[in-house]
This record gives sequence, structure tokens and C-alpha cells, in this order.
Amino acid sequence: MLELLFLLLPVAAAYGYVMGKNSAKNQAHEQNRIITSEYSKGLKYLLDREEDQGLEHLIKLLEVSADTVEHYLTLASLFRKRGELDRAIKIHELLLKQPSLANEDLATNRLELALDYIMAGMLDSAEEHLVVLIKSGHNEAVDPILSLYSQLREWNKGVNMYEAHRNLFTKPQQLATIANYYCEAGLEEKDGELIERAFRLKHRALRPLFELGKAAFAKKDYVKSIYYWRELATYQPVTVPLFIKDLEASYHALNLDEQFDELIEELLCQGGVLIRIKYCEVLVKNGEVEKAILFLTSSLKREPSIRGFSFLLQLLSRKQDDMSDVLAQVDKLVRSYIATKHEYQCRHCGFHSHTLYWLCPSCKHWETTLPAKGLDGY
Ligand SMILES: [Zn+2]
Repeated sequence: MLELLFLLLPVAAAYGYVMGKNSAKNQAHEQNRIITSEYSKGLKYLLDREEDQGLEHLIKLLEVSADTVEHYLTLASLFRKRGELDRAIKIHELLLKQPSLANEDLATNRLELALDYIMAGMLDSAEEHLVVLIKSGHNEAVDPILSLYSQLREWNKGVNMYEAHRNLFTKPQQLATIANYYCEAGLEEKDGELIERAFRLKHRALRPLFELGKAAFAKKDYVKSIYYWRELATYQPVTVPLFIKDLEASYHALNLDEQFDELIEELLCQGGVLIRIKYCEVLVKNGEVEKAILFLTSSLKREPSIRGFSFLLQLLSRKQDDMSDVLAQVDKLVRSYIATKHEYQCRHCGFHSHTLYWLCPSCKHWETTLPAKGLDGY
């Protein structure tokens, strides 16, 4: 009830506006009488706890002055924060019908109404208003509509909207979202043309490179799988655990093992523990077990890693035959421990999972869930 008395402010403003605007004393008097009458009716409803009618009457005062819109928007926002969505919706819907609202206020109100609808689960109504905003060039509607389309898995709608209004999509996260819409829609088609379009976006997203490499590998087009995955590995080495096994197999299928080894050496200074393990494998392949042990030991001192420790145990058991059984037992324990740890972690909200989600189930950001880092990670 206290919040509703907040509406005294617009009445005071409206009163001042009327008094200043009308020079004829009688006209001012008549306007004042109308405001007072509407206000009294509204207040009576509120006191009788008939709050819907109360709000309706008070909002009628807006016809007298548009200067008070801000107060109503603030009140509606308070209701929404308290979870009283029906009241917030009521205010925003009534404001939308006000002919005196300036275009800017109208757009703000429409956006707020769409947010009410999203919170209330009235997604079709929310979409309707957001589409109106996008079509009239309001980029504030981009984030909510992308969030809506992600929730509804409406990839093609999102892609079409982007292609019709590209200039409104400027933030990297918005472009990453569109790249993922192309991928999601593209995975359902045969030729992968949509994923190619995602690859050609100005924003360098991770998913298109990953998916194009994966599709090429499935078709045994190893030249292409190497091209896309190598690009991704050098752009974001943290993604390497997603495809390193198949990337190595691609090089091997083309008898290019040495080039794979060279790539590992290139990634060594920026890659995680998996790259360091791969580097040790290269050394072992060349008969340099001792060098691999020294390298990994020194690396683990700087950056402790359970996966690195497990590989070190395997290297030590190669060198010390008499201890190999004991070391194998210890390694088995370490591997059991690793198996309990989540492989992926969202860089935005910290969500952990055993599955790779391109759309984080927790914070709903795209491409923020990646192979985990740190002691238990990669
Ligand atoms: Zn997240």
C-alpha cells in the first residue's frame, strides 16, 4: 500500500504542470478539479484494497501530463522486483495505451512490459513486443529477444532477425549467440551451409570452427578438419581437449605426424596440462623418457595438476620396472579421483558439468562453458 502512495508524486507534478500551462484561471481551476476528482477516486479504490481500479484511475491522470511517466515506470519496476507481476503488467499495459507518451517513453515501457511477460512465462506476448522494438531499431531489445529465442530453441527466428537487423547486434556475446544459432540450425541440415555462414561472421566464435572440424573429420576430409581445428587451437588453446584426439588422428591419416608434433610445440607456452602431456608423448616417442620426466616434474612444480601427476606416474613406471606395479596402483587411484571431477566449467558463472554445454544451463551464456582449468582440470 505504501508504494501506491508513491503515486502522489505524479499528481503533484500534474497539478504543477496544469497550473503553469493554462493561463486562464478558470481553465486551470477546471483541470485541477478533474485531477482531484480522478485522484480521489483512485485513492478511494486503493484504500478499499481494490488496487486494480485504483491504479487505472491514477494512470488516467497521465493524460494531463507525460512528465510523470517515470514515476509509474518506477512503481511498476518495484512491483516486478517484489514478484507482483500482474500489477507490473497492469501498469505497463495501461501506460502503453496513453496517447501522450513520447516515442522514447513508449519504447522503454514496451521493453519493460516484455520483461514482465518473460518473467510471467507469457513468452509469445513478450516476443510480440520485442519484435516491434527490434523492427523500430531499438538495440535494447536484442539481449532479451536472444535470451527468449535461446529458451525457446528458435534458432531460425534468431538467425532471420539477425540477417534483417545486423546493425543492432554489436556486442561480442550477441554475435557469439548468433554464431551458435547458425550452428544449431546448421546441425539439422545436410550441407552445413549455415555453419559456414557462422564462420564468416565478423566475430570469431568458437563453435563454428569446432563443428566444421568435426563435420570434416566425420567425412574423412582430414585436410579440412586439420584446417579448422588448428585454427581453433591457436585461437583458443583452452579448447584443445575437445578435439585433440581426432586432430592427432587427422594428421596421422595424412602421414603428417611430425607436423602434429610441431603444432604441440607451438602451443606449449600457452596450452594447459594436456598440451604438456602431449609434448611428453612426443619426447617419449623420440626415446627421451628422462627429458620428459624432468620437463613434467618442473612444470608440475610451477602449475600443479592431477592429470599431469597421473602421467608422471606412467612415465616413472616405464623407467623403474621394479616399482611399476606400485606406481600403476597409485595411478589407478589418481585416475579414479580424476573421474569424479567435472570436466567442464562455465567461465561466467562457475557452473560445473561432465557434459559440454555450448549454452550454459545456469547463466544462459553461449560458449562460456569450456574444459575446466586448475588443479583438477586440463
Ligand atoms: Zn554459466
